[in-house]
Amino acid sequence: MIAQIFVDLCTGCDACVIACPTHVLDAVEGGAPTIARIDQCQTCFMCELYCPADAIYVAPEQDGAAGIGAADARVAGQVGRLRHDYGWDREPEDGRSHLRDFWQLGPLLREGAEIAAKRYAERRHGEGAKHAAS
Ligand code: SF4
Ligand code: SF4
Repeated sequence: MIAQIFVDLCTGCDACVIACPTHVLDAVEGGAPTIARIDQCQTCFMCELYCPADAIYVAPEQDGAAGIGAADARVAGQVGRLRHDYGWDREPEDGRSHLRDFWQLGPLLREGAEIAAKRYAERRHGEGAKHAAS
């Protein structure tokens, strides 16, 4: 689950907003994006991979509290580590595309998007029912 955008590192390029397949993030004019719909996050790491400033931490846990807080992850050098380890920040030496490799996870990402959409709809339906009862 996306844990934090570090505003002091963010350049406001909005690459993460564009990369997020489930529209979790909203662009903010002249500033860092906001995490607007965290319940739609499918922990796909695309925002972290696309962030050129290493300003995003996505915790690997999909539910519940993160095993390590975002601030501690930053101190430990884990923010942006996936991007570096995956070679996202350099040209592939063998001509392969990092993006093509990552999108081999495509069916999983699609399934995640469907699950997030269902969860979001269920939550909205539950809130609607609560309002109707009150
Ligand atoms: S981890 Fe994936 S779904 Fe979650 S905010 Fe980042 S890009 Fe969006
Ligand atoms: S991709 Fe990184 S630097 Fe660009 S807006 Fe998002 S958090 Fe900020």
